[in-house]
Amino acid sequence: MPGRTNDEALRDALSATGRVTQQRLSCLRALEDADRHLTGNELVDAVRAELPHIRPSTVYRTMARFVETGLAHRVDGFRGSRYGVGHGHGHAVCPRCDRIDDLDIREVMPLLERASGPVLGVTVVALCGDCRRPTDPR
Ligand SMILES: [Zn+2]
Ligand SMILES: [Zn+2]
Repeated sequence: MPGRTNDEALRDALSATGRVTQQRLSCLRALEDADRHLTGNELVDAVRAELPHIRPSTVYRTMARFVETGLAHRVDGFRGSRYGVGHGHGHAVCPRCDRIDDLDIREVMPLLERASGPVLGVTVVALCGDCRRPTDPR
């Protein structure tokens, strides 16, 4: 299995927020092993590599729970939402290709919180590196 994440760490994270089941473990591992945010369908495919008979509804229910408990986050793109893991980052959504990149927001966080109160998420609309043409004014 490529890029296999340490199961112990995943089990710890799961037990802190609920039961450790094979399904929850597979969902979390699929997210951790992905190098980008995944759509629900991509996530179902990834989990099915390990658990071929899992139902999509089970994966979606697990994800809803992960988002609720802060184990994962959901980002709304232009053509649907995607799931990711990790804390304290914002997201840049490309309006042209709908790619979602993580955004380091540590420096602007204090400014935002002064203006709005506690910030739960930051999404910025910006052309991604691939869609930014060299002739585009920056
Ligand atoms: Zn993210
Ligand atoms: Zn793009």
